[in-house]
Amino acid sequence: MNESLDDMYRDIILDHYRSPRGRKPLPRVDIASDGTNPSCGDEITLEVQLENGTVKDVHVDCRGCAISVASGSMLAEIVKGRSIADAKRISEIVRSMLKGEEVTIPDDLGDLDALQGVRNFPVRIKCALLAWVTFMQGINDHENGRRDGRSHVSTEDDE
Ligand code: ZN
Repeated sequence: MNESLDDMYRDIILDHYRSPRGRKPLPRVDIASDGTNPSCGDEITLEVQLENGTVKDVHVDCRGCAISVASGSMLAEIVKGRSIADAKRISEIVRSMLKGEEVTIPDDLGDLDALQGVRNFPVRIKCALLAWVTFMQGINDHENGRRDGRSHVSTEDDE
């Protein structure tokens, strides 16, 4: 990766960190999940409003480092308005990418490729993963029929 590309990625991440998307509380919460990343101390609360099989909106409240907050902001921006299946597919792509697997980021995923730079900083990978594993845990629990309570996930459990 050349230096200017690095700078561009850093600018995108800082932009999301300084003005995170998805901060607005939802009128109705269908899925709620909490995630923690003990290795860095990041914590996230993620709420999803569904409508007709789509992710109508997402509320993300992340308390943590710049990477974790930026990643949660990107998630909020990208999954909003997508079908649940599509949102899951994207989450899987991001997870695979962060874990260093060879994946192609579809063109319509906007700022997401900026997260690829995180792979060069192994201690930050779980920070970037936090929002995505928390989102997927909430969706999976919901699809498995757990409609009460909240989901909880730790990046330590995601291997
Ligand atoms: Zn972190």
